[in-house]
Amino acid sequence: MKPTYSVIVPIYNEIDCIDELYTRMTAVMDKTGEPWELVLVDDGSTDGSTERMHTIAAQDARVRAIFFARNFGHQIAVTAGMDHALGQAVVIIDADLQDPPEVIPDLIAKWKEGYEVVYAVREVREGETWFKKTTASLFYTLVHKITDVKIPKNTGDFRLLDRQALDVLNSMREKDRYLRGMSAWVGFKQIGVPYHREARYAGSTKYPLKKMIKLAWNAITGFSYVPLQAATYLGFIVAGVSILLIPVVIIVRLVSGSELLGQATTLISTLFIGGVQLICLGILGEYLGRIYDEVKNRPLYITRSVTHSIYDDDEAATDGIEDQ
Ligand code: UDP
Ligand code: MG
Repeated sequence: MKPTYSVIVPIYNEIDCIDELYTRMTAVMDKTGEPWELVLVDDGSTDGSTERMHTIAAQDARVRAIFFARNFGHQIAVTAGMDHALGQAVVIIDADLQDPPEVIPDLIAKWKEGYEVVYAVREVREGETWFKKTTASLFYTLVHKITDVKIPKNTGDFRLLDRQALDVLNSMREKDRYLRGMSAWVGFKQIGVPYHREARYAGSTKYPLKKMIKLAWNAITGFSYVPLQAATYLGFIVAGVSILLIPVVIIVRLVSGSELLGQATTLISTLFIGGVQLICLGILGEYLGRIYDEVKNRPLYITRSVTHSIYDDDEAATDGIEDQ
């Protein structure tokens, strides 16, 4: 038997959220009256979340727990959950209860109407800093402007995917992953469902600024060449301005007889063009590094173990390294 629904939860040091998540999720999903599974992915936790997940998986056969060999990051943890999910519809949700499990029935309702990708749209965001909200908003506007794929604004990874869309996404093995972009890219019938994003239930954010910037770069480089083309535009602009300045300098020299340009001007223009070149090199480096990662073709993640679930037909649980 296969479950109708799989709920995927990436977990990185969420010991204070796990029990509440499990309780609320069970209450919500049991009400659907259809078979469901909970796919918990331990992204190298060090705070006891791992042991807690073992206990939950041992008590409830609808829970499958996947344990990573180390921390691979949120997007990769979700990917592992997507690889292991067996449901006809798959829901991705955070462990910290910022995305309330009670919204899942709304997502399911849209799926039953025939939508293959149902993403949850944050109408209100509680408990997040001014800085996080402003940077997030700036980032989404920028990504929206420069990428080819229209990634819906104010959405996170909280969404429902139909099996057909999921299979396509699972076949996309790019190393630098921006799942909300990828799921917009696959097409199918998509729709948003508004919801109220709550404050974290417990613990603190696992997305420091560094990880946010990395995700933002993955979003941009994964879906746009505009930064690469920026070098061309900047080149034309700088060259154009210099050409315009040549007659100006000549006229000033002829009319006033003075040498307008002193050392400071030379220094500034040299530093300016040096800066522009370094930025362009850096952008090239960002893309090159990503190509290098792809070429190395290492597995996306390494699992230490995966627990059995009620939905396994005598398949042995996988141990050790999985080649993904
Ligand atoms: N997470 C993860 N690996 C990481 C960082 C985060 O699996 O390296 C999980 C985390 O446990 C949570 C989800 O990803 O379930 C979202 O993280 P968080 O709530 O800290 O991000 P925020 O909501 O602050 O953007
Ligand atoms: Mg959160």
